[in-house]
Amino acid sequence: MKAQCDFGPRYPGSEAHKKTRDWIVAQAKQYTDKVETQEFTHEWSVTKSKVTMWNVVATMDVGAKTTVLLLAHWDTRPTADMEWDVEKQKKPIVGANDGASGVSVLLELMRAFKQTPPPVNVTFLFTDGEDLGPEINEMFLGATHFAKNMKRGAYSFGILLDMVGDKDLEIPIESYSQYYARSVVERFYRNAALLGYSKQFPRQAQGQVLDDHLPLNEAGLPTMDLIDFQYPYWHTLDDTPDKCSAESLAIVGRAVESFLRKERGS
Ligand SMILES: [Zn+2]
Repeated sequence: MKAQCDFGPRYPGSEAHKKTRDWIVAQAKQYTDKVETQEFTHEWSVTKSKVTMWNVVATMDVGAKTTVLLLAHWDTRPTADMEWDVEKQKKPIVGANDGASGVSVLLELMRAFKQTPPPVNVTFLFTDGEDLGPEINEMFLGATHFAKNMKRGAYSFGILLDMVGDKDLEIPIESYSQYYARSVVERFYRNAALLGYSKQFPRQAQGQVLDDHLPLNEAGLPTMDLIDFQYPYWHTLDDTPDKCSAESLAIVGRAVESFLRKERGS
């Protein structure tokens, strides 16, 4: 998380954005067999010019029949729109929780799965343009692009990690996930409880969250969003590493790892 935040705000078009892309690619190459970038452009309403963005797709093929998609967005919000002060609102956020946290857990899972391979193939998708905005029609751009180009039936299901680093971690069941990916939700939350993580993963509804899982679900891939939306620093300049904890990242990582290790690959 620190490495990413040290690059600074990582919004599309910034220098830090490109550096982070290269850093993620380099990290992923250490642990997976195949790493690709998926480039796309978007004409941004704010600048009226084209922005180039990149999804990073890393594949771990263990020779199983089924493949699971794990994803997190790596871009950060170009504006701190939840700040009270109008001047502060114009500044880009560091996005420790909203950006870096999900990426950190994905990289950690890669490391663990490289050491002891899981029973299923895993595709790690780092999406870009999740948080461009300002409005909802200019968000989830990388996930939408990926969903459009995704081969039908390529994945059995997806798990999205977003804002998973909060010190006070609590990830109730997100409602779109419950609707579109009910059996994944059931299995995941049951297993989290077995691990002793009922406090962090309470089996309660938290309402609908608009996120990268929507375009995937709409394209027919059941995808669960693990998100702790009760985070007072959301889209502010205070979304910094000190608000997060390594323990929270580790719990989410262990919960996903343990769940995937119980899946059947054929
Ligand atoms: Zn955000």
